[in-house]
Amino acid sequence: MEEEFGLSRVDLVIKGGTIVRSDAVFKGNIAVKDGVIVAITDEAFVPASEECIDATGQYVMTGVIEPHLHLRDPSKNEREDFTSGTMACAAGGITTIVEHPVSTPSVHSATTLRNRIEAVQHKSLIDFGFYGGAGYDNLDLMLEMAEAGIMGFKTFLPASPPGREQEFIGLNAKDDGFLYQILEIAAKTDLPALFHLEDNTLLQLFEGRVRAQGRKDPMAHIDSRPEIAEIVATAKLLAMAQDTGAKVQLVHMSTDRGLELAKFYRKQGVSISIESCPQYLLLSKEDMEAAGPFAKMNPPLRSKETQRKLWNYVHDGTIDMIVTDHSPFLVSEKEIGYEDIFKAPPGHPGLETLLPLMLNEVANGRLTWQQLSSLLAENVARIYRMDQKGRIDIGKDADFVLIDMKQEWKVDVSQMYTRSKGTFKLFDGWNIKGKPVKTILRGKVIMENGEVIGKPGEGRFIRPTPKNHA
Ligand SMILES: [Zn+2]
Repeated sequence: MEEEFGLSRVDLVIKGGTIVRSDAVFKGNIAVKDGVIVAITDEAFVPASEECIDATGQYVMTGVIEPHLHLRDPSKNEREDFTSGTMACAAGGITTIVEHPVSTPSVHSATTLRNRIEAVQHKSLIDFGFYGGAGYDNLDLMLEMAEAGIMGFKTFLPASPPGREQEFIGLNAKDDGFLYQILEIAAKTDLPALFHLEDNTLLQLFEGRVRAQGRKDPMAHIDSRPEIAEIVATAKLLAMAQDTGAKVQLVHMSTDRGLELAKFYRKQGVSISIESCPQYLLLSKEDMEAAGPFAKMNPPLRSKETQRKLWNYVHDGTIDMIVTDHSPFLVSEKEIGYEDIFKAPPGHPGLETLLPLMLNEVANGRLTWQQLSSLLAENVARIYRMDQKGRIDIGKDADFVLIDMKQEWKVDVSQMYTRSKGTFKLFDGWNIKGKPVKTILRGKVIMENGEVIGKPGEGRFIRPTPKNHA
């Protein structure tokens, strides 16, 4: 029987689970050898294996790929490092990350990229790739980073936060002329160029007005960064992307009007990938009244009306990915914002709640399993050309998250692995239906029932699959 299937004894079988993919949800068994999926069989046939995991009653999805997080390492390790951050990932069902270049130094050249890989590879529990910053001050270094293995470029349209210039070398567009040049160079590669879209001139106008009123309260942050800043930045970027032929990615989108522009340009053939985050899909600016500076993020939380409309763009496929924008800081850094909101850094942790919050939406009927698999893994793997990742299919890496939808539980910050859990205020205490109970990286269990058992150094550096790869 085994020979008929071309299977000698395999390393691992996950049996009896409901397999989740973007094209189908079905019962079956998965066989793994040397960290790769070698067979997907009917329930009735269980291949002989060294190890067997019984997933009866559970869902088996490909491991979550999280392409928008900040782990800081090798600098600011008091906020987070690659070990604490990737432990949080393992706890949350995430098996692959693409880390953003904000650090000291930022990733803005082939050398800073290599140094970063060197500094973290013995620390990572899961597979990881990096972006390279693309700014007015490192245009000449963009192509060497593409050659050295970045997954994409990252550029901020807003100016760097005051006092954090070192973390943002090679990360700011500065003006429209430089933005156009960044796109021209990105177009010579096949990599996505990612943009934080808030128009700097408009931010200056609105922040100036709020400050002129003497306001420093948390809600002043919301009023200083209105939706129009995202909409104008999006319009400008997309017009330039059409002109230059660059592949662009709109990160952490928070407005329906920005997304409507993206739909228009997509129809014109512009290559656009789009992220949003649980905070924009599930929260609104009213949440800032309770959480104060801990809810400060850029772009800021929006109105309930905007939040509700964003779901239309999840459902019609405009939004490709739901990502965390996990941004760890110290409690002391965030608390400054109670006196003056403009002094607190923007961002909130999210690695341990991304999948649970979205499972809850599956339980509520707002997302299907197929959509979940697309938004949290399959689309991400396609956009970044991670050919080994993102789907339960023969030949792909055996990265999985096992999910128990019968578990109802409360988000509990005290159980978290992220070093920045003290700043986690936004979803604490939420009731969630559905829980990741096992995370598996290339055939090895790295989280079991909430306990992370993977080891630092087991994660591998990944780069995009070469384009002519057969
Ligand atoms: Zn970010």
